[in-house]
Amino acid sequence: MTQSTIDEQIEQFRTGEYGDVIRPGDADYDDARAVWNGMIDAYPKLIARCRGTADVIRAVEFACENDLRVAVRGGGHNVAGTAVCDDGLVIDLSEMRGVWVDPEERTAWIQGGATWADVDHETQAFGLATPGGVVSKTGVAGLTLGGGIGHLRCKYGLSCDNLRSVDVVTADGRYLTASTDENEELFWGLRGGGGGLGVVTGFEFELHPVGPEVATCFVLYPGERAAECLRAYREYVSTASDDVTTLSSTGVMPDEELFADDVVDDLKIGFLGCYAGSPEDGEEALAPLRELDEPIADFSATLPYVEFQQILDEDYPDGMRYYWKSLYLDGLTESAIERICYWAETAPSPLSTVDVWELGGAVMDVDLEDSAFAGRHAPFLLGIEANWEDPANDDANIEWVRDCIADMRQFSDGSFYLNFPGFFEGGEAALQTTFGPAYERLIALKDEYDPAALFSLNRDAKSTN
Ligand SMILES: Cc1cc2nc3c(=O)[nH]c(=O)nc-3n(C[C@H](O)[C@H](O)[C@H](O)COP(=O)(O)OP(=O)(O)OC[C@H]3O[C@@H](n4cnc5c(N)ncnc54)[C@H](O)[C@@H]3O)c2cc1C
Repeated sequence: MTQSTIDEQIEQFRTGEYGDVIRPGDADYDDARAVWNGMIDAYPKLIARCRGTADVIRAVEFACENDLRVAVRGGGHNVAGTAVCDDGLVIDLSEMRGVWVDPEERTAWIQGGATWADVDHETQAFGLATPGGVVSKTGVAGLTLGGGIGHLRCKYGLSCDNLRSVDVVTADGRYLTASTDENEELFWGLRGGGGGLGVVTGFEFELHPVGPEVATCFVLYPGERAAECLRAYREYVSTASDDVTTLSSTGVMPDEELFADDVVDDLKIGFLGCYAGSPEDGEEALAPLRELDEPIADFSATLPYVEFQQILDEDYPDGMRYYWKSLYLDGLTESAIERICYWAETAPSPLSTVDVWELGGAVMDVDLEDSAFAGRHAPFLLGIEANWEDPANDDANIEWVRDCIADMRQFSDGSFYLNFPGFFEGGEAALQTTFGPAYERLIALKDEYDPAALFSLNRDAKSTN
């Protein structure tokens, strides 16, 4: 096809779209192709900033007609940068952020480009919530399609467990609704399979009474006491009620506003979580976590739920450099604790952390076969977050994460959480290990709904990257 024909076709496409269509050379091109992770620097041929389902259908058809690879952008927070691509079409849903709450039915219909801040804002007006993530700027779409592990998981499960239905534009331009009553297999795959089956224009979520205030725990201890604290944490979570959901983070976390000068640059271990019930009961239930040792600082408080959901937002600024990986842990054994402390101590960047997320509770109550999500077997998820600023330190930080994961595999079956993916290393074998028996089922779904692998950038079962 000649350049002038491509230009004509793009011009026709641009005219028919309701939202903006952005090309290289346009004033807003660089802003439009930027995603949260500053490591990602991709140059798409075209960015279709959709305003609604009609735009999405046209964009999918345009990509098929012109043999363009497609990236779908929800909140733009995927660590591996899969919301953009080189030389392809980005279907950008960042202007489709509407949230409609039905307080009687306790449901919310949420557009495919909404963030968790959008959702919490609308649902909390009615004292309701659905489980999201722990940073409010992340997108509902990517997080939910990969599972969704947040502050309410032990009580109300994963984000994907709370889906009632999903509206999708598939690779052939069809608009389908998937639920337990229609397109059931597609619905199964959309819950935790990692996406790649179409463009989700809307999610219908179940809501639960939460807040407006919740008891929260955010307490930090000296890094040299990390092993003792993790041991005590292991005991605490083994008996805590499902109303309590917590995680631990070990790192320097050099926040001058939070910490006194004499400890700001020291290693610390922090515990963060909340209680999904009455604040009075919550304060009592969380109290043992505040007494694991002698704290350096304790910011635990009863807070508006919305405020707690945003408590980590500033720690993850747009455009910084990030490389994260994860592993499901068989348990927090003595040796696993010892290695967690070692890797936290050796992080090249003071902004990096080694995190342990408790799972269990409602996450484990769902049958494995009910959804594609593959991480219900493990009591803990290990997250390794390299967060740094200077590109000169890229190699050291990436190597630290890879070495840590290689070492920690001895405490895991090798499966990982799709939403903390590194940059796609591991390939098919890692996905097979992670999905287990669900892998073949996901491949069959991909063959049915996206046989030409139009949506091939997601970390789905047939991802080629
Ligand atoms: C600061 C930060 C905090 C995080 N905290 C948590 C957490 O607490 N819990 C947790 O589980 N995860 C967490 N994550 C991981 C997060 O779930 C993933 O990064 C997720 O991919 C983000 O979704 P997004 O829509 O913002 O990303 P995007 O980059 O926009 O999309 C992610 C993937 O989903 C696809 N996608 C996006 N929108 C759609 C759509 N509408 N239809 C079809 N496919 C779509 C994209 O193509 C891409 O492959 C966090 C990530 C960050 C950066």
